[in-house]
Amino acid sequence: MNSEHLLGTLRTIGSFVFSRYALRFRRRERLEAWQARRLRYFIARVIPRSERFKALANDGLHRLPIMDKASLMNDFAGFNTRALSLEQVLPVALQAEQSRDFSPTLGDITVGLSSGTSGAQGVFLVSSVERQRWAGILLARTLPRALLPRLVCPWLAPLRIAFFLRANSRLYTTLASRRIDFAFHDLTLGLAASLERLNQQNPDVLVAPATVLRGLAQAALAGQLTIRPRHILSVAEVLESTDAEVVQQAFGIKPQQIYQASEGFLGYTCEAGTLHLNESHLHIEPQWLDPQRTRFQPIITDFSRRTQLIVRYRLNDILRVASAPCSCGRAERAIAAVEGRADEILWLPRLDGQQLAPLYPDVLRRALLMLGAELEEYEIHQRGLLWQANLRTSGDYHGLCQRLTEALAELCAQQGLQAPSLSFGHWQAPPPQTKRRRLLMLQLPEGLSCVY
Ligand SMILES: [Zn+2]
Repeated sequence: MNSEHLLGTLRTIGSFVFSRYALRFRRRERLEAWQARRLRYFIARVIPRSERFKALANDGLHRLPIMDKASLMNDFAGFNTRALSLEQVLPVALQAEQSRDFSPTLGDITVGLSSGTSGAQGVFLVSSVERQRWAGILLARTLPRALLPRLVCPWLAPLRIAFFLRANSRLYTTLASRRIDFAFHDLTLGLAASLERLNQQNPDVLVAPATVLRGLAQAALAGQLTIRPRHILSVAEVLESTDAEVVQQAFGIKPQQIYQASEGFLGYTCEAGTLHLNESHLHIEPQWLDPQRTRFQPIITDFSRRTQLIVRYRLNDILRVASAPCSCGRAERAIAAVEGRADEILWLPRLDGQQLAPLYPDVLRRALLMLGAELEEYEIHQRGLLWQANLRTSGDYHGLCQRLTEALAELCAQQGLQAPSLSFGHWQAPPPQTKRRRLLMLQLPEGLSCVY
């Protein structure tokens, strides 16, 4: 082990211990005081190193402008402290994507692409120091206590982690070490290609998008998979209750969630099963969507980053807050669900025809769930007042279309909305490397304004 490698490992262990044992806030005031201290340093010392924030540096956080993926991509060099331009970093990222070899870096910087689900693709930079810290934080926040000895006791077998993602990155392979046997599975190859390797590795921890977990659970129920993971983490997609049930049935444990995006490590499930925002490492301002304050889009400031600046960055996600505090006692905000992305909200005219009102993804999903197992797969895309619904069933297709029409009419009546015009088609499986997106707003109805 050379000294650089040793230093990196120590950094990972350091942030593991710090995150797990020191950064456990039980009182909200303590958490906010810690955030305020870190933010002061971040705004005074870190962000002035970038072109974008040079002139703005001494303003408080709330005076800084809000950014999003589009503004980041429009002024890429301005938003990082190394003044790296898109032209410099894109070739590294694209080459990794094409060759499926994710090891190349630009000096000590890893270049990652975010899955461009809604058109614009995002590019994110992470330095090696940040990567090592990230690995420590991720392990600290997600590993159950029973598996910890495997990380530290040399006489025990290393912890085996299987990781399914659309793209690997140095970010993830940082986790590999003498104490962690880390296997990356490339989703572009399809699930069937992974089963044998997965059986051989027999992972303790299984990490995958919700639809992949579901596929693996079905393979296990069919006897093709013999693994017995002790901890299962869902990433990158909304974990629906039906996915969680199949996973529990197959492996005997409930999947937990990591809420992680290219923009940062945003949340994790605690031992009580609640999703908490990672507020010890990120400052999160809720941008409320409704007057009752049940749902918001998060505006995040990552005060731990030093390379890519994420400052009052608006995520496209919709989070629903938990109605009661979590029994674990953590002060970090509890989330009932990551409902999906803002473009998964479908919009319909109110009964009075004056304005458009939102139909939230979880409300619609729940109504469709009531149709039962006969609705095996579906997607609904909205274009103006027309909803294209593609369904799969092994039962009576026309009967199902009829029941779905009635269920939607009932739901809309309850919500005070006009029912959509529906057009039906047959559901086709998307390629394995694409994210599941059941609901998609492609085009708003014209001439009416949207009111949450
Ligand atoms: Zn909790």
